[in-house]
Amino acid sequence: MKYAGVIVDISGGKLDRVFTYRIPEALADRLCVGMQAEVPFGPANRRVSAYVVELSDSCAYEEAQVKELFGIAQKGIAVESELIRLAAWMKEEYGSSMLQALKTVLPVRKSVAPVRKRRVSWALPKQERAAFLGGVNPRRQAAQLRLLTALTQEDTLPYETVTQKLHIAVPTIRALQEKGIIRVEEENPYRNPIAGGVGRDQAAVLNEEQQYIADSVCADDQKGIHKTYLIHGVTGSGKTEVYMSLIAHMLATGRQTIVLIPEIALTYQTVMRFYRRFGDQVSILNSRMSAGERYDQFVRAQKGDIRIMVGPRSALFTPFTHLGLIIVDEEHETSYKSETSPRYHAVGVARRRAAMAGASVVLGSATPSMESYYRCHTGEYRLFTLKQRAVREAALASVEVVDLRKELEAGNKSILSRCLAQRIDERLSRGEQSILFLNRRGFSGFISCRSCGKAMKCPHCDVSLTLHRGGRLICHYCGYEEAAPRVCPSCGSRYIAGFGIGTQKVETMVAKQFPGARILRMDADTTAGKDGHATILSAFADEKADILIGTQMIVKGHDFPKVTLVGVLAADLSLHGSHYEAAERTFQLLTQAAGRAGRGRLPGQVVIQTYSPEHYSIRLAAGQDYESFYEEELPYRQMLHYPPVYAMMTILFASQDEAAAGRSARAAEALVERYIGRWKETYAPDRAREPEMIGPCDAPVSKISDIYRKTLYIKHVDRRVLVTIKNGLESLAPWKSERTDVSVQYDISG
Ligand code: ADP
Ligand code: ZN
Ligand code: ZN
Repeated sequence: MKYAGVIVDISGGKLDRVFTYRIPEALADRLCVGMQAEVPFGPANRRVSAYVVELSDSCAYEEAQVKELFGIAQKGIAVESELIRLAAWMKEEYGSSMLQALKTVLPVRKSVAPVRKRRVSWALPKQERAAFLGGVNPRRQAAQLRLLTALTQEDTLPYETVTQKLHIAVPTIRALQEKGIIRVEEENPYRNPIAGGVGRDQAAVLNEEQQYIADSVCADDQKGIHKTYLIHGVTGSGKTEVYMSLIAHMLATGRQTIVLIPEIALTYQTVMRFYRRFGDQVSILNSRMSAGERYDQFVRAQKGDIRIMVGPRSALFTPFTHLGLIIVDEEHETSYKSETSPRYHAVGVARRRAAMAGASVVLGSATPSMESYYRCHTGEYRLFTLKQRAVREAALASVEVVDLRKELEAGNKSILSRCLAQRIDERLSRGEQSILFLNRRGFSGFISCRSCGKAMKCPHCDVSLTLHRGGRLICHYCGYEEAAPRVCPSCGSRYIAGFGIGTQKVETMVAKQFPGARILRMDADTTAGKDGHATILSAFADEKADILIGTQMIVKGHDFPKVTLVGVLAADLSLHGSHYEAAERTFQLLTQAAGRAGRGRLPGQVVIQTYSPEHYSIRLAAGQDYESFYEEELPYRQMLHYPPVYAMMTILFASQDEAAAGRSARAAEALVERYIGRWKETYAPDRAREPEMIGPCDAPVSKISDIYRKTLYIKHVDRRVLVTIKNGLESLAPWKSERTDVSVQYDISG
C-alpha cells in the first residue's frame, strides 16, 4: 500500500476530515489500520500524531501535493487503535463507508464543557453546630443564620440555591468557609447518570446449575480460552445472578465488563440491581442521555473510574483498556441490529471486539435466536441451560389458548373473549393486576372506503395512514399528518371507516366493559416524553392501576409482583408479516409475554387469543417449549435457504428518481450474474453451493418520504461469499454514474 488516510484529531470530533499521506517505502508492509502514526501537519509541518484509518494504492490528489508521513508513533497501544480496527472490520463485514463505521465506533465527541456544580455543607462537626448557631446574632448576621439553618435541615445545598434562593452574598459564604464553619465542594465533573448513595447487595449463593456455568466460563478464562457462551434459561431462572458472578470474577482479575441490555429493558429496576451490587464501578448509557453525558461516561471508562458499563448496543464501543467480558442479555432482541449503515448485529461485533481484546462473550435469553441456538449445535458456541426458576415458589404461569373464531360463532363481538373477560374480572375482585398486550399502535389501524375500496395512504410513503384520537391520520414512517376525511376523496361515499384495532380503542372498550377498573395505556404515543416509559411503569408498579394495556414494550423485562394475568389480544398479528422470521418473532413475543405473569408469589395465568391456535409458534409458546419450536422451525429455514443455515444479503437501492433506483438494481444484478457465471465455471459440479439471487424488486416498503426503494437478495451458505460479492459491487459501483443520487445499503445476516 502506498497511501494512508489518517485522522489527526479524534477528540476534536473531526472524523470527517481524513488526510492522505504517502507511506515511506520502509513502512509499506508494516503500517496497519488503527496504528498511530506521526505526520507533518499544517503550513508549518508541525509533528502531530494521527490514527491510520485506511490504506490504499491510489490517491485522488496530485503526487506533489501529498506529504509523506514521518513514521509510526512509539506510544503504547491506545484503545482508539482497537476501536478503529473494529470499525475497519465492520466496514468490511457489514458493508458501509469507513466514515460511517468510524462514526459508529468513535462516538461523536462534541466538546461539552463539564458542568461544574458546587455544593455547600457544614464543615463543623455535628456536636458543635448548635453551640455555634446559638452564638449567631439573628439581627446583624441574618444571612449567616439563614444559611446555617437551611444546612441543618438539608445537610447539603447546591451553590446556586444558596446564592439565588437564600440570597446569601458571596463574601458571606467565603467568610464562613475561611473560618471552617462551612465547606464548598465541587461535584464530580463527570456526570454520573445515576445518583449515588445506594447500599450494596450481597452476592446470592448460586445454585448448582448456576455455579456450573460460572465455574465453566471462569475455568476457560483462566486457561486463556475465550469462547462465546449461550445461557438458555427462562425468565427468572437466575441468568443475571450468573452474569454478576462472572463480573465479580473480572473485577477480581482487574478486568472490565460490558453488559448489553435492550434499551426497552434498561429499566430502573435492572440498572439498580447492578448498581446495588457493584456500586460506583457501574455506569450506564441510554438514548435519552445527551451527547455530553454519553461522552462523560466514555471518559470515565477510559480513565478507569468505572469497570462495568451497562447499556444498549452502543455500549459495545466503551473504550475499556482491559476488557474481559461482554454480556449480551436477551440476545434475541431485534434492537441489537442496527438500522443504519453499517447494519451490524451487536452479537457479531461483540464477538469480534472480544476476540481482539482476549475477552469472553456470554449471551443469555429465555428464547434464544434461531441463529445463536444453531451455532450451539454447530459447536461455534457453548450452550448452558437453566431449567428452573431460581426462586422456587415463583412457578411458571399456566397458559390458555382461546380460538377467536369460536367466540364470533358464539356471538361474542367484544375484543375480549369470554375466558379473558372472566379472568380480568377475577383479578379486579381480588385486587390483583392484569396486563393486556396488543402488537399494534394507534387507534384503529388504517381506514378505507367501503364503497370503492380506496385506502388512505401517506402521499410520501408506501404505507397506510393510521387513525389516531381526534380524527387525525398519521404516517408512522415520516410523521405526515392530515385530518381524516368525512367522505371518500376518490368516490365521495360517506361509508369510510377503520379496520383492525389499536391500543387506544382497546382502552376505550375495556373501560366500557369494566367501568370501575383503573386503566393505564403504554405505547409509542403515551411514552413520547423523556421519561414517558418510566412514569407509566412506576405508576403501575405502585399499583395505581389495575390494568396495563400496551404494545410489545410492556412485555419486556419488567417485573411486577402483583401481575397475575397477561392477556394477548390477537397473537396472530405478528404472524402475518411476510418476513421469514415471523414465526420466530411470534414465538418469542408470546413466550416473553407469558413470562410476565406470576413473577411474585402469586401464581400467574396467561390467556392467548388467536385466530390460528393450531400454528406451531402459538401452540409451542403456550407450552413454553423452546426446543420443539427450534426443531420445527429449522427445517423450514433449511429448505428455503434462510438464515441461520444460509447467509443472506439484502441490497437496498434508494433514490428520489424511481428509474435511477431500478437501473442501479439491474446493473448490480448483471454484475452478480456474471460473478455467479464465473462461480459455475470454477465449481461446476457443486450446484448446491451456487449463490442464489432474487430480484430486483420493490422493497417491502417501496417508498419512504418520497424516496423509492428497490432491493436485491443474495443467499449463500458461506457468508464470506456474500462479503466478496459486496466488495466487488462496491468497487465497480455502477450507480455512481447516475445523475440522481442513488444510495446503496447492504444488510448481511446469518
Ligand atoms: P433472570 O436473569 O434469568 O431473569 P434473575 O437472575 O433475575 O433471573 O433471577 C430471578 C430472581 O431469582 C431474582 O430475584 C434473583 O435475585 C433470584 N435469584 C437468582 N439466583 C438466585 C440464587 N442462587 N439464590 C437466591 N435467589 C436467586
Ligand atoms: Zn370511495
Ligand atoms: Zn409518510
